[in-house]
Amino acid sequence: MKRSHILVPKPKSKFQKVQCKECSAENILYSHVTTTVTCKSCGNVIAEPTGSIAKIHGTVLGILE
Ligand SMILES: [Zn+2]
Repeated sequence: MKRSHILVPKPKSKFQKVQCKECSAENILYSHVTTTVTCKSCGNVIAEPTGSIAKIHGTVLGILE
C-alpha cells in the first residue's frame, strides 16, 4: 500500500508591514524574528520571537512577497 506523500504546508518566511500602535509608523519586519523588534520611530516593541511566527504587537498592514 503506497500513499502519495502528504503535502505539509511549510511556514513560509515573509516580510510583513507592521504599523506601530504607539506612533503609527510603518515597520517592515520578518515574519519569523529571532530577536525582539522595536519600532524604528519610537522604540516600542512591535514583535517578539516565539519560536515560530513572531508575536506582533501592532497592526499588520500587509505581507511583502
Ligand atoms: Zn512607534
